[in-house]
Amino acid sequence: MHIDILTLFPEMFDGVLNSSILKRAQNNGAFSHQFINFRDYSENKHNKVDDYPYGGGAGLVLTPQPMFDAMATIDPENKARVIMMCPQGEPLTQAKAEEFSKEKHLVFLCGHYEGYDERIRENLVTDEISIGDYVLTGGELPAMVTMDAVIRLLPGVLGNEQSAPGDSFSDHLLEHPHYTRPQNFRGMEVPEVLTSGNHAKIDEWRRKESLKRTASRRPDLLKKAELTDSEKEWLDQWGKT
Ligand code: SAM
Repeated sequence: MHIDILTLFPEMFDGVLNSSILKRAQNNGAFSHQFINFRDYSENKHNKVDDYPYGGGAGLVLTPQPMFDAMATIDPENKARVIMMCPQGEPLTQAKAEEFSKEKHLVFLCGHYEGYDERIRENLVTDEISIGDYVLTGGELPAMVTMDAVIRLLPGVLGNEQSAPGDSFSDHLLEHPHYTRPQNFRGMEVPEVLTSGNHAKIDEWRRKESLKRTASRRPDLLKKAELTDSEKEWLDQWGKT
């Protein structure tokens, strides 16, 4: 996968892309990336990339010319998936991250100030993504969040010890609780079943914990989860206790 990032502040990405799993993923060739500071494409004599909104009002709006020209250079055949970071966009979900992880070329557009001239949204963009119902100063953090969620799903990025398929949201359930050594920590015991060596019982315990956790914290997710009749019944009974 190749990722192009259109941003006025490429230095913001340094720590995130040069640490831990994302750094290793680049070194192993799982993905490459390039920053495009769209100010470099500005035809304005002072390299301006923003201007006052028509109709008046507060704030500055990103002008179309620098982004249109940057996009013509990096994706001349319009083949890339072009993701505009935008609080008005579709919420980022695990399913969306999985969808993006199948692409060969992603482009992230990072807005700033009041946002983008509407013609950018209408002509250059395939997806608009929001990372939540709040407003940040720019699209850099949302792009990093989205990139992290996507890159960890690329083949070979996570080892066996950090596998993604059982993660929360992958099957519309929250993951079960985890325990590690020691078995007794200051009087707090690990659930007995986990040290029993009985893998069928462990799987059953984990599945039930995952169902309970989802039902109590995120009942909205359960509507999409694939549950057996006996699991539905069990959950019903558990809900009444
Ligand atoms: N005026 C815009 C509005 O009310 O919808 C908000 C603009 S915000 C201050 C500047 C930029 O930050 C946006 O263009 C977008 O790129 C990014 N941004 C802010 N919050 C975001 C969020 N929740 N998800 C994705 N991007 C966001």
